[in-house]
Formats: sequence, C-alpha cells, structure tokens
Amino acid sequence: MLGLKSIKSKIVAFAIMATLIPSVGLGLLSFRQNEAQISDNVTLELRALTSYASREIELWIDKRVHEVYVTSSSSAVIDGLSAIYRPAPDASGRDPRALALYLRSVQEKLETILELTVVNAAGQVVASSMETTASVTLPQDWPQNSLTEGLVIEPAHWDKQYATATVSIAIPVLSYDNMLMGALVAVLDLRALQPELKSPTRSPPGEVLLLDPEGRILVSSQADAEKLKKLDASLLQSLLAQPGESAVFQGVTRPEVIGVADVSGELAITILAERDRQAVYGDWIDLRNMFLALVGALVLLMAAVAFQMGRSIVVPLKRLIRAADRIAGGDLDVRLSATRNDELGHLTQVFDQMADRLRRNHAEIMAVNEAMQQQNQVLATLSITDSLTGLYNRSKLDTILTDELARFKRTQRQFSLLMLDIDYFKTLNDSYGHITGDEILVAVARILLQSIRSIDYAARYGGDEFIIVLVETSAGLAFKTAERIRSQVENMRYSVNGSTINVTVSIGILQCRPDDMTPTSLLARADHALYEAKGAGRNRAHRAH
Ligand code: GH3
Ligand code: MG
Repeated sequence: MLGLKSIKSKIVAFAIMATLIPSVGLGLLSFRQNEAQISDNVTLELRALTSYASREIELWIDKRVHEVYVTSSSSAVIDGLSAIYRPAPDASGRDPRALALYLRSVQEKLETILELTVVNAAGQVVASSMETTASVTLPQDWPQNSLTEGLVIEPAHWDKQYATATVSIAIPVLSYDNMLMGALVAVLDLRALQPELKSPTRSPPGEVLLLDPEGRILVSSQADAEKLKKLDASLLQSLLAQPGESAVFQGVTRPEVIGVADVSGELAITILAERDRQAVYGDWIDLRNMFLALVGALVLLMAAVAFQMGRSIVVPLKRLIRAADRIAGGDLDVRLSATRNDELGHLTQVFDQMADRLRRNHAEIMAVNEAMQQQNQVLATLSITDSLTGLYNRSKLDTILTDELARFKRTQRQFSLLMLDIDYFKTLNDSYGHITGDEILVAVARILLQSIRSIDYAARYGGDEFIIVLVETSAGLAFKTAERIRSQVENMRYSVNGSTINVTVSIGILQCRPDDMTPTSLLARADHALYEAKGAGRNRAHRAH
C-alpha cells in the first residue's frame, strides 16, 4: 500500500517540480532583468533631474546676480558709497540713510532678496535695507581681484535670522572711474528656488532636495517637505563619492527611496534627486505578485491533474492487487471487468484470462484427484477382497483375527469362528467343470454373506474353504448360525445343463479362548474341528473342544 501511495505522490511531486522549476526560474530571471532595467532607467532619469535642477539653479543665480549687479551699478549706490570716501561739502544729499532707504526700496521690489547691504572695501557695513545685517565674509584678496572676479557667492546655509535657507552674493561697487569702493551684498531667499527645481512637464519625475554639507535639507521641490530634516552624513558622503550613481536608502520623508546626488557648482550644495522606491517598483511588484499567484494557481492545477492521473493508475492497480490476493488465498472465483482501453485495461483483461485458465486447471485437477481417490478406494477394496467371491481375502482375514484377538485380550469379549469347507468339491469340479465350480463358490459365498450380521466378517480362506468371524458371539450361538448356513447350502438347488447339483458344507466351530495367542493357533483349532466334521460324515457342524 505504501508503494502505491508513493506512486501517486511521486507523480504529484513530479508535476509540481515540472511546473514550478521552469516557470519560477524563467520568471525570476525575467523579473531580475526587468528590475535591473527599471533601476537603470530610474538612475538615468534621476541623473537628468539633477542636471535639470543644477541648470535651473544656475539660471536662477545668474538672474539674481544680474539684478544685484544692476543695483550695484546704480548711481544711488555709487554715489552713496563715494560720499563716504569723499564727503561733499554739502552733505544734505549724501546722507548714508538715503542709501539705506534706496536699498530697502530696491529690496522690497525684488521678492527673492531678503537683504541688501553695502559694505566698504574693508568689509564694514555702510548701509543696509535691514536693521541687523547678515554677516558676509569677503575674501582676503578680494580688493585685488575684484575687478576681474567681482562676484562672490557664499555657500548656501540655513539662516536663523530669516528662518530660511539663504545664499549671499557680493558684487563689487566701483566708482565711476572704476575704483573699488565696496560691495553690495544681497542675501537671497533660497525658498524662491523651490518652483524652479523641477517642472511637471519638462523635467523627469522625482523630487529634488538641496542639502548643505551636513545633509540638512535647505530646499525641497516638495512644498510640504519638512525643513531642517537631515540626511545621514555618512550616507551623503557615500552618495557624493559616486556622483550620478543611484542608491537605495531611507529617505527623509519616505521609508525607501532611490536617489542620485550631485554637487551644484554655483552654490556649493548637494542636489539630491530621489524617487519613492515603492512608486517606481509598484507596477513591477504588482506584476511579480500576479505572476507568483499565477504560478501558484498553475501548480495547484497541475497537482490536481497529476493527483487524478496518479489515482487513475493506483485505483485499478489496487483492484488488481486485491484480486491477486484473493487468488493467492485460494479463492479462484475472481472476475474483473476491464472498462478501460489502455494498458491497465489490457492488464485487467489478461488478469481475467489468467484467472479463467487457473479456474479451468483447478477444475481439471479436482476431477483427476477425485478419480484417483476413487481408484485408490477400489484398490484398497481390492487389496482386501477375494476377486472371485467378493468376500475378504486371506490377508485381510489375518488382520481381522489379530484385531479381534487383541480386542478379546483387552475387553474379554468373546468371539466365535466358523471354518467351512465344501464337501467333495474336487469331484464337483471334475464333474461339472471349473467354471461351475467357481459359480458354486460364488453361490456359497452369497449364502454366507446373507447369514451374518453387519458386524461379522466373512472371508475366503483358500480353495473351497471359508472363515466366518462372529463378533461377541458364544460357541452356542455360533453353532446355530453354522447350522443355518449348512442347511441353506444344503437346500440350495444349483442347476447346470438341466441337472441339479447338491452342495453341502462341513463346518468347524470354535469360541476364542485366553490361550489363543495368534491367528494361526486359532485357525489350527478351527481346522481341527472341521476335520472332525468331515470325519463325522460331512454336511455337519462340529464344535472344537
Ligand atoms: P473334501 O470333502 O474332503 O473336502 O473333499 P474335496 O474334494 O472337497 O477335497 P478338497 O477340499 O481338498 O479339494 C479342494 C479342491 O478345490 C481342489 C481344487 O481343485 C479345487 N479348487 C481350489 N480352488 C478352486 C477354485 O478357485 N475354483 C475351482 N473351481 N476349484 C478350486
Ligand atoms: Mg472340500
């Protein structure tokens, strides 16, 4: 049974493996390729986004520089600053406060500028649009090369005073005769960059973050991005170590993002373009889950089909095994009907034919067996029977006498014995022929059989001599039986060729005695009694003494 069960489970296991291995193998391979392709595409897009943002920042800065430059070369600023160096006799129109007022009016017009400050060549504040000014560190060698490299852009940073990310730019203020007099410092509000960082139509998808060197978010293309959140510095380092390469990490606002970092040359800040990994791989994950569900369904279907297939093999096999078991147990009355047209159907058919053949052979064997038993029975009967008369033969007589003597010794139950001999049988033979002699022997034997009980025995002792054993019979009763036999034989009228033959018998009678040890001694006594009967004139019975 276990073996059969394993056939079924082996088929099911094979079907599952055959379905699972190629589909999952190919599926995983193709999904791995898709994943790599998606990852490449996203990297390219994010790289494009950083470039886009970087370009936009440059443009924005250029515009701001241009605005500040225009202001720095305005007569109000130049005049205001020259007044400090060369105070005019009439100072009424040269009031530094006028410059401050001018600066404020300009700053108010330009939304992105938080503060406009004019400093002298030593970097000291001369006038500002604000009461308190943001500190600007001008380079040491600035006065020297300010004519050629006039523009200074301070690194972008978080400004506590304005509670926003700012970048300061300083543009030299030159006198009308190109002498360096100071600088116009503008503090720009980087928030204004936010709408520029990406375009819904022109830039690739994703979010752009501008980070300071410590990883703090200064500006985000997401309006609601939480300011001052920080990206892990070591992560930022590793991103910057491979500019333009994508990495997957825990984002500031999302649990898992794919990001590409680059450094903006203009502002010395990191531009980080990122996309939510879930959103990028969402379709891919959906497709993968759908594929896995499909493979699962396919495996179930194949397992069901294989189970059914296994069953269709195992069930008829079990039926055949049960039938074979019955035959092995000796029950040949087994008939299977083949209902299928395949190998198992053929096997069932062959099995039926085999069972048929076995039944026929068995029936033949049984018939032969019975005949042999009958023959054995006949042989057994023949071996103890006298062929002419049908009485017991001499060898059987020996057995009977031995048994009766033993029984007598055991139980003391007496038995008697008659020894009969046909009178002048030789003469009868000689007168009527041997065949008639045989017929007389048969006729006498018949009388003997009719005269005894079923428990008694009659045997042909030899020639024309017969022995009768009368079980549990005394000599007296035996004598009566002997007399009855003698008289019946005497009265028998046997006709041959029209003449009637008279047959007589002489009978010796004895009753067993304790000193009768063997059949021979018993027969000797009987013979003696018979001799006495013969001697007394024949046709008589004589009791042994
Ligand atoms: P008695 O009265 O003294 O017995 O005389 P008897 O002629 O009968 O003598 P006995 O008994 O000695 O003779 C037996 C004869 O029986 C001898 C033999 O020829 C004959 N005989 C023996 N066996 C057979 C047999 O099977 N068939 C026939 N027809 N005759 C047999
Ligand atoms: Mg005789």
